Amino acid sequence: MPLPTFIHNMPKVELHIHLEGAIEPATLLRLAERNRVALPADTVEGLQAWFSFRDFPHFVEIYLAIQSCLRCADDFSLAAYELGADMARQNIRYREATVTPYTHLIQEKGLAAEEIIAGLEDGRRRARRDFGVELRWILDIHRNLDMPATAEVTTQLALDWADRGVVALGVSGNEATAPAGQLAPWFQRAKAAGLASTPHTGENAGPQSVWEAVRDLGADRLGHGVRSIEDPYLLAWLHEKQIPLEVNPTSNVCLGVYRSMDQHPVIHLLRMGLCVTVNSDDPPLFDTTLTQEYQRLADTFGLNEEDMQRLTLNAVRAAFLPAEEKRRMEEEFVGQFAQLRSLTP
Ligand SMILES: [Zn+2]
Repeated sequence: MPLPTFIHNMPKVELHIHLEGAIEPATLLRLAERNRVALPADTVEGLQAWFSFRDFPHFVEIYLAIQSCLRCADDFSLAAYELGADMARQNIRYREATVTPYTHLIQEKGLAAEEIIAGLEDGRRRARRDFGVELRWILDIHRNLDMPATAEVTTQLALDWADRGVVALGVSGNEATAPAGQLAPWFQRAKAAGLASTPHTGENAGPQSVWEAVRDLGADRLGHGVRSIEDPYLLAWLHEKQIPLEVNPTSNVCLGVYRSMDQHPVIHLLRMGLCVTVNSDDPPLFDTTLTQEYQRLADTFGLNEEDMQRLTLNAVRAAFLPAEEKRRMEEEFVGQFAQLRSLTP
């Protein structure tokens, strides 16, 4: 079986993808029409062209436009359901998607927090019914927006919604201008209540930021974490503790963390035995999919079927699911990988 077919067919898990940043042009068009929001284009082709990555300000502009189109429970339900439909297309069995509720709540679009979770729950339930896929949510604090209100509101919602699919607290935004340490009290509260911690870190700031994320926020996983490569002590520590890294290769190249894919440190992190997982971050905005992320790594670094299996099983083990469920998923995946490999001459 050719490697692209193998990658397409293999079972997958994704741990780092943003609900808002995963909305496809066709879905955005539907949302804009029903909410009467004007976008820079009114066809799928036009939106596709507008989506293509240019630079960070343009990326933020698209992100804000997407947010302005999510206005009621039905909209969140559609976005969640489409995440599930995409999972079915890529054979992604389990996905943890990041949602940033505070940015919606301050937009003065008359949206109540309850509508967000009601919509997400409805979409998640329909996706399970129609595609047999499982979704969970990570609530994300935007660290450059309205501290401490953003941290307070987001943490409280994460705690309130823990029985409705929320498994972790995260933080995004610029690490360089707003260090992780200031968020310690909220992450302590979330962890004490049984939620996991997965901050964006080691992306636009160096190893110091990762040390802070593990020390002050009790990070169970690292959102990105790739710049850990700059500190050998940190690498040794991450290796010993097997703290998983949610690596998003194309996102890192688009946003200028690395100049090109062949300069990305993912191959070194993997060969050093760190728990590397592969993810797509904001797929349509970076013109990628999870399947393509695996393929790009294979093309750039000559990865083989065994590497694909290892990366996938890392993601299963790093999921915020009960140990028993992960054990069952791993067993199932190992069987399916063996079957796929038996079809390769
Ligand atoms: Zn992200």
